[in-house]
Amino acid sequence: MKIIFIGPPGSGKGTQAKRLASRLAVPHISTGDMLREAVAAGTPVGQKAASIMASGALVPDDVMIEIINDRLAQPDAQKGFILDGFPRTLVQAEKLDGLVGNGKSELRVLQLLVPDDAIVRRITLRRTCPQCGAIYHLENSRPASDSVCDRDGVEVIARPDDNEEAVRKRLDVFHRDTVPVASYYKAKSILREVDGIGPVDEVFERIEKSLAHGSS
Ligand code: AMP
Repeated sequence: MKIIFIGPPGSGKGTQAKRLASRLAVPHISTGDMLREAVAAGTPVGQKAASIMASGALVPDDVMIEIINDRLAQPDAQKGFILDGFPRTLVQAEKLDGLVGNGKSELRVLQLLVPDDAIVRRITLRRTCPQCGAIYHLENSRPASDSVCDRDGVEVIARPDDNEEAVRKRLDVFHRDTVPVASYYKAKSILREVDGIGPVDEVFERIEKSLAHGSS
């Protein structure tokens, strides 16, 4: 299974993509996580990406394409993958076609629909574990022990781009650059639109149902 998740920031795509990847036993490939790791490690890509990400803008296509090209060439990605955060532009989508062979039969695209007005609130209450990437929400899915990650006990933090100004910028970028990517896949009849509002388990059920159906 080769599945792409598309959704605005804070739509729950990271949470759902991780869950689906473990259900299907394929790697969860998040370009946002990969970039955050590069920033933390201080690599040349990380140094270039840090301020762009903090502002809510997109990292240049050529950088992203190289990252995804390398990642998809690794052995664990050969049997399938869940892509979370890529492609975000039409240029990236067209490049990905070349990498996955443009195979309509294999690729599925899930778009999580969450209205803009729900996003800002969701994101400002989001906390993530800087070590393992686990995602929490201070209202809906708090860590068991207030401010530390359930898995590894590290203090959970707000991402540097999870502030209101950056979120509004990320939403603008999503509508301008990434919504056309959803239309691109819709025209190929491989897009499934899923309502992203509601408890995590319910949204996950909708995702599984929509994948179980034939074509959209
Ligand atoms: P995410 O964790 O998916 O919300 O990504 C966080 C940030 O990483 C984005 O706001 C962008 O700055 C950058 N980023 C992640 N994936 C991409 C991509 N495919 N193209 C460009 N920038 C990206």
